[in-house]
Amino acid sequence: MHILVTAGPTREFIDPVRFLSNRSTGKMGYAIAEAAIRAGHSVTLISGPSSLQPPKNLHAFCPVVSALEMLEAVENYLPSADALVMAAAVADFRPARRFDRKCHKNELGSTLELVPNPDILATIRPLKENRFFVGFAAETTDVQNSAAGKLHRKGLDLIVANDVTQPGAGFETDTNIVTLLAPNADAETLPLLSKAETAQRIIARMEAEMQKRRQNR
Ligand code: C5P
Repeated sequence: MHILVTAGPTREFIDPVRFLSNRSTGKMGYAIAEAAIRAGHSVTLISGPSSLQPPKNLHAFCPVVSALEMLEAVENYLPSADALVMAAAVADFRPARRFDRKCHKNELGSTLELVPNPDILATIRPLKENRFFVGFAAETTDVQNSAAGKLHRKGLDLIVANDVTQPGAGFETDTNIVTLLAPNADAETLPLLSKAETAQRIIARMEAEMQKRRQNR
């Protein structure tokens, strides 16, 4: 299979030195790319800014900066992909205006006008066809219900939910605690595992769901 994986944060620049972003390091997405390669898949990794080394033996590595660039990259690679794993933490908003030189405090003022970024999953949904789409839901409250809502709203085949307030889960850690939700299946909560092991389990679950789908066809 050709699996498209997105990882890391996006940066939304205000001027050449300032940006809006989030705490994502890319660890979970890079671990998914690595696990998919080890499972014998062809993997394209689209990554926001990250200090991590891309895994060896990728089919392609596509570095991007902003949400709009990530959307364009996903649109470019999607036609050749059988599955998409959207592990990136895409910034929901970007500054309405980007200055092409560093601006002074008084030019910025005390309010920054923002415009919403497109939701990448929602934008590419019409192109989904038989592809398997996996989303992530980093939550701080009501984790399973919020994730179940996103699974349905975003038309996903699998969602990986985690409570980023739990010790050992979420941003900047090497471990994670996730719950996997798929339509018409019981929630599967994995124990505290390294991100590498969590990634292996996510790939294995994806393969199982895709196999089930082929048998039901
Ligand atoms: O709604 P929320 O941002 O929590 O959903 C998270 C999922 O949606 C993740 O898989 C993320 O990569 C994806 N997403 C997206 N486009 C955005 C924001 C999030 O595809 N603009």
